[in-house]
Amino acid sequence: MAFTILNPYASKKMPWLRGNLHAHTTNSDGSCSPQETANAYAALGYDFIMVSDHDHFTDPDGIQTGKMVLIPGSEITHGGPHILHVNTREALEPAYRRQDVLDTVRGNGGFAIMCHPNWEEHFNHCPQETLEALDGYAGIEILNGVVTVAAGNALATDRWDQLLSKGRRVWGYAHDDCHAPEHFGLAWNMVQCARRDPASIVDALREGRCYASSGVVIDTIDTDETTITVRARNAQRVIAYSDHQKQVRAVDGDVLTIEVPDQPPYTYLRFECCGKGEQRAWTQPFFIEQA
Ligand SMILES: [Zn+2]
Ligand SMILES: [Zn+2]
Repeated sequence: MAFTILNPYASKKMPWLRGNLHAHTTNSDGSCSPQETANAYAALGYDFIMVSDHDHFTDPDGIQTGKMVLIPGSEITHGGPHILHVNTREALEPAYRRQDVLDTVRGNGGFAIMCHPNWEEHFNHCPQETLEALDGYAGIEILNGVVTVAAGNALATDRWDQLLSKGRRVWGYAHDDCHAPEHFGLAWNMVQCARRDPASIVDALREGRCYASSGVVIDTIDTDETTITVRARNAQRVIAYSDHQKQVRAVDGDVLTIEVPDQPPYTYLRFECCGKGEQRAWTQPFFIEQA
């Protein structure tokens, strides 16, 4: 074979865990306490959440959650584009130079997600040239729930495809960014993870063993040497996108198979599953490495 399909998903069966990594509480500008926030997500059946207060570490140890796992973190906010700091037990001093922030995050065992790039009136909370210049983040928010009721575009798949088309290997994540109860359950990640503990979930998220969703459920993602098949039970249309957001194929229904040709005219494929209304699910990209 003249190419290899890099599949971020696990080949063996693993449970899918549902979670949100972006939630504000009364420790920053949210209207619910950390405990109320955890209770709300537990009631929705979430498997994990991360409280991500602005430049503040909310200690999960004081929160009762039953079976739901709490991942420690914060949202680095002051002085530049916002960055989710996943798996930290301290709020970093926000440096103006975001590359310094990202280097510190990488050095302390956590990982970074660039937040809501298309937020604000000019759709430019984090300009594309900044995303391209920075290095060392795991991915970007391709959907941010609260931006659906704020200025700008809650979606950032346009930004994602621009990065991917330049050869950047970055994952897509979806989060509520909740500040009030009406933001609970708008956008989440489904993570393929055998164990329900923070370290295992963090590893799976960092490695892209997850997909982003606003309501569509992906059941199976299968690859062999030359094909990729995505099945999503409540999808009405499945679309395969490649470099520069070019559609490779789109079908009505709940399953799409792509046969990658010899000398593929793209460097990655990603799948978008469209359901009722605005419900979607987005797989991670499958990078195609040519020999
Ligand atoms: Zn933010
Ligand atoms: Zn936020």
